[in-house]
Amino acid sequence: MKIETIRNFSIIAHIDHGKSTLADRLLEYTGALSEREKQDQFLDKMDLERERGITIKAQTVRLNYQADDGKDYVLNLIDTPGHVDFTYEVSRSLAACEGGLLVVDASQGVEAQTLANVYLAIDNNLEVFPVLNKIDLPAAEPERVKHEIEEIIGLDAHDAVLASAKEGIGTREILEEIVKKIPPPEGDPTAPLKALLFDSWYDQYQGVIILVRLIDGTLKKGDKIQLVSTARSYEALKVGVFAPVMREVPQLSAGEVGFVIAGIKDVADAKIGDTVTHALKPCTTPLGGFKEVKPMVFSGLYPIDTSQYEQLRDALAKLKLNDSSFSYEPETSLALGFGFRCGFLGLLHMEIIQERLEREFNLDLITTAPTVVYKVHRLKGDVISIESANQLPPTQEIDYIEEPFILASIHTPNEFVGGILALCEEKRGVQREIKYLTPTRVMIIYELPLNEVVLDFYDRLKSITKGYASLDYEHLDYRRSELVRMNIMINGEVVDALSLIIHRDKAYYRGRDLVSKMKELIPRQMFEVAIQAAIGTKVIARETVKALRKDVLAKCYGGDITRKRKLLEKQKEGKKRMKNVGNVELPQEAFLAILKVE
Ligand code: GDP
Ligand code: MG
Repeated sequence: MKIETIRNFSIIAHIDHGKSTLADRLLEYTGALSEREKQDQFLDKMDLERERGITIKAQTVRLNYQADDGKDYVLNLIDTPGHVDFTYEVSRSLAACEGGLLVVDASQGVEAQTLANVYLAIDNNLEVFPVLNKIDLPAAEPERVKHEIEEIIGLDAHDAVLASAKEGIGTREILEEIVKKIPPPEGDPTAPLKALLFDSWYDQYQGVIILVRLIDGTLKKGDKIQLVSTARSYEALKVGVFAPVMREVPQLSAGEVGFVIAGIKDVADAKIGDTVTHALKPCTTPLGGFKEVKPMVFSGLYPIDTSQYEQLRDALAKLKLNDSSFSYEPETSLALGFGFRCGFLGLLHMEIIQERLEREFNLDLITTAPTVVYKVHRLKGDVISIESANQLPPTQEIDYIEEPFILASIHTPNEFVGGILALCEEKRGVQREIKYLTPTRVMIIYELPLNEVVLDFYDRLKSITKGYASLDYEHLDYRRSELVRMNIMINGEVVDALSLIIHRDKAYYRGRDLVSKMKELIPRQMFEVAIQAAIGTKVIARETVKALRKDVLAKCYGGDITRKRKLLEKQKEGKKRMKNVGNVELPQEAFLAILKVE
């Protein structure tokens, strides 16, 4: 294949602006979809993705296109994951391209996610050009949105293609722009193999499939390849392209995009961003930009029905096959029994995994409040990473604790600025910038501690702005912070499962809130029950559940026997779910008040 006729590109868009619909249009127009395959949104394979309208696993397809200049082109459309937790994966997919289509909904305008990804594309030296989608909508304002693209992003939008992916308007113009505006790849097919691994997943029948973009060299079936980060070697058993279904090809060479199946057992060994080379004739320098991704947010997952424990374990193992950025290990909790502590890239990643467990594997789960990774500097000089209060070393051994910060960009209509600033301040945020992008749209940039964001930031932001704000974030750094361990005590006894790590300034309010919530949920017992929140030995909040003989039947004034029976049943039912702390019986709800995500 002639390298001058290849175009590698991605579609960059905010969620719901029409990326998948447009991709389908391009596939259809170039004849890549047969009638049978013409189900809507070929690129979003999983049902869950389709329902949520987001792309979880990137899919890449080769399109053949004969342009107005009469030449035949090969267009590789590289689909990127579409949400904030996968920034690194997006950046690697973009690194496999020379160009990007910036799709903006002409009835909405530029959003935070759009900006973040456009900047990623520009950082990767991509040629980016705008497409205004959904011009069929009566609310479309192409002139305003063009202006916004120029003002906010600084891209020339005067000749932006006006398209409707839904109605198939503008498809050919877009293909022509791809051919004309995006440069062909450069690379030396005779040099040693150097390829970027930009996606990988596990296939039940074929094992791990990796997607690669060849920078230099050629790759064919039978070659002995090596993954640079692990130095492991494999034989390329199959080499091919998605067109749009898998098709083997004799070889891939510099500039091309395709898949390799090489008997890799575990997706964790096929790391995104890694360099693929020939084992016997390796390239001299691997590609830059490689990073090992680590979970940033943790939570406990417990089956509501304890008999589902084994099922949960199997389901987690299955999900892990396809997602090496997610981790899990067994954990037991006094209140919740046997479960797993799971690590995620971020909150949305967490939500997706939970939802898949519940939906695809039919599990009912309790999810504990998410936590983050803290760095504890001990007096003896070492640093340990922990993500729950119970892993904290004794106070007298701690020098100081650091917590992760993120840089959050919030994009909002201007009427919500006040509410958002109040929220960010409450969440211990440090203001960086407030940018008025247009007379009505504002970009608010804050440095925020991740542990405040994982709590309820998204939900609060959504309700403050009625869903009109969008949020994007990146990890910044670790910062020293006044973090303390807060214990909950029941009649003087610390309940380990309820301890948490919290900022000193927040402890008082949170402590008061939690003990009063628990007071509501703990039934009166034969004796008085004291519920306390404490930092070290210092009690910061206290509530008391008064002693009372609980005679529920007294309320029934004789008479109605079925009502009496119901109450007795209910009481028995409640007993089953009680946990003992010392001699106090606590209902599961009291634990959940602290542990569960609301
Ligand atoms: P993605 O999240 O960027 O992949 O967006 P989708 O392609 O899933 O589209 C989001 C929604 O917008 C879907 O309901 C589409 O049917 C709709 N949509 C996409 N393109 C157009 C368009 O050109 N016009 C109209 N009216 N709706 C569109
Ligand atoms: Mg989509």
